[in-house]
Amino acid sequence: MLLQPAPRAGVLLPLPLTGAYDYKLPKGTNVQRGLLVTAPLGPREQLGVVWGDAEGTVGDNRLKEAVPLDGSPVLPEKLCDFVDWVAQYTLSPPGMILAMALRNGRAFEPEATRIAYVLGPQTPERMTPARQRVLDVAADGLARKVPELAQLADASPAVVRGLIEAGALVATQLPEFERFEVPDPGFMSVTLNDDQRKAADSLVADIAQARFAASLLDGVTGSGKTEVYFEAAAEALRRGKQVLILLPEIALTVQFLERFAQRFGCRPAEWHSDLSQKERTRTYRAVMSGEARAVVGARSSLFLPFSELGLVIVDEEHEQAYKQEEGIIYHARDMAVVRARIEGCPVVLASATPSLETYVNATSGRYAHLRLADRHGVAVMPQCKLIDLRETKTEPGSWLSQPLRDALAATLAGGEQAMLFLNRRGYAPLTLCQSCGHKMMCRDCSSWLVEHRYRKRLVCHQCGYETATPPSCPQCGAQASFVACGPGVERVAEEFATLFPQARVAIASSDTMHGPLETQAAIRAMAKRETDVLIGTQIVAKGHHFPQLTMVGVIDADLGGSDGDLRARERTFQLLHQVAGRAGRAEKPGLVLIQTRNPNDSVMVALASGDRDKFYEQERVFRERAHAPPFGRLAAIILSGLDGALVQETGRMLAKAAPPAKGVKIWGPTPAFYHLLRGQTRERLLLQAERKVDVQAYLRAWLAKVKPSNKVRIAVDIDPVSFF
Ligand SMILES: [Zn+2]
Ligand SMILES: [Zn+2]
Repeated sequence: MLLQPAPRAGVLLPLPLTGAYDYKLPKGTNVQRGLLVTAPLGPREQLGVVWGDAEGTVGDNRLKEAVPLDGSPVLPEKLCDFVDWVAQYTLSPPGMILAMALRNGRAFEPEATRIAYVLGPQTPERMTPARQRVLDVAADGLARKVPELAQLADASPAVVRGLIEAGALVATQLPEFERFEVPDPGFMSVTLNDDQRKAADSLVADIAQARFAASLLDGVTGSGKTEVYFEAAAEALRRGKQVLILLPEIALTVQFLERFAQRFGCRPAEWHSDLSQKERTRTYRAVMSGEARAVVGARSSLFLPFSELGLVIVDEEHEQAYKQEEGIIYHARDMAVVRARIEGCPVVLASATPSLETYVNATSGRYAHLRLADRHGVAVMPQCKLIDLRETKTEPGSWLSQPLRDALAATLAGGEQAMLFLNRRGYAPLTLCQSCGHKMMCRDCSSWLVEHRYRKRLVCHQCGYETATPPSCPQCGAQASFVACGPGVERVAEEFATLFPQARVAIASSDTMHGPLETQAAIRAMAKRETDVLIGTQIVAKGHHFPQLTMVGVIDADLGGSDGDLRARERTFQLLHQVAGRAGRAEKPGLVLIQTRNPNDSVMVALASGDRDKFYEQERVFRERAHAPPFGRLAAIILSGLDGALVQETGRMLAKAAPPAKGVKIWGPTPAFYHLLRGQTRERLLLQAERKVDVQAYLRAWLAKVKPSNKVRIAVDIDPVSFF
């Protein structure tokens, strides 16, 4: 009798390994890409995924056996393809991308067998302290599994099983995961204006084609982009497809879920880091089974196992929050386009101020360009005026110029609301000693400590280190010699309060006194007109609708425009445009006053004139001349480690090893913008290449030539968007 050899396969494990490992599988296994298995690795059992054919270099007798999970669940093949693509593009070990797609091993356990225990009718004849503790835990009536009961009661599982045998605990089925409701595409009838109708028709046609197509949905704040892409979502749902909507920040999801529910009759599934483990498991399973039809999520939702994805929407596509800067460095907007291409479905990028990359893709015809020209309903765009701070001077220690003060007074007198914007948390960005000039720095980073006066703390905005303001200068010992330099939102609020003592004022920044909840409360109070003036950082710029807000003042428009970063101007424009868009969103027209020392800068000119496209055209020319993205390619290599000399030495070694290649330039190593971060020294190398260069292949060849010490971490950032 001939023995059939066991099937074998390459199995990818969610670990930082170079690739898939060969395993054999039990006879009769239906071997297919995506099959979830348990695979032995050293002494451990590890969740893994059948990835492809075995390499076949290891003999059968030495091969370990991987066993399919109960019920033989399979990860969608297109998700596997996406994992490979992202790994290839970001130069990451594929297992680390797979880890992002698995996240939650419990999600693959069959749901029906989740037996748990509750108090039973019997009282055990023999009672011990351990048994009593278990029964005390169970007294709350919640169903729990044996290990959980044992752990909570600090008893052994045997004690729990003894109670089960004695009838003091009885088996019950854990409540099934609550089912997701099915969104109803026809729940609310919608009236669209002509622009909206045209855009919606174009998207609906793409969905009918059921193939990849990218569109930029381009419209000013308040022009009704959401209503348009909801029409596309409705069409995808009608055709039995799943829909993924990406939002840049969790803070925006609460409002958004409500909006979705108004349109579709129920909330979508959510996916972000604030969910409990159980919620994540529930959502993950429901996405994989197809039960969850629509998902609203943060960037990590791109790695969910959709079985029938039919539409991807990236709202506020220009937002920098889409770039993950730690761990696996990737841009969720770009990867969303890739996922859609692999799934063969349309992707919609929505923004009032698109990234230059997307703008160029749209104006060159690579993406469909769907424009919404007007504000929805009666609202008109606000009037925007520059205040030239070189001519209109403010007193030392004052940040509100006379024209700004006059406008605030008029707004308050008219019973309307105003907002002041400054993208700087805390009281003052710099604290220095008047006697010796010593600047208060973080002990672990090359950044200034920012005074937060309400909390009486000095805080590092890079690493979160904080300390009480010392009574004397650590450098010269002078007593009470510290002065605050420059404005933060707290300081602006202080000045405002002395000028308008009667006005009700609130501060909103991501760290105002008691965290995000307080910020949400400040925003709600503003919406309910319990606040007259809201003073805030960029968190007030996004997505909020304040109908009675008619005036916006920008304290320092030049902030962030001068740090030599390729995208600094684009970002400044996007942020200020968005801030300005808060004014006059209902019947009353808005006024925006922008304080600047560079009124002739194209960012300021574009804001004042409202000619957005002129700004984009200037940026496009500038980037094209500089061979900068999207007309050239960039990649950064960041080296970091505790041993500063070793990091610098490795940087020099790496620079020397760079293979000469046509169309490739290497800059650096130079100290990174934060050359000290959390105690780690950081050096950067920048690769600039022509568009046609295969940057990944170049980097792979380059990095393979250097064997750095394991005390130096090397991270590759393809298409960097920030330069810190
Ligand atoms: Zn001093
Ligand atoms: Zn720090």
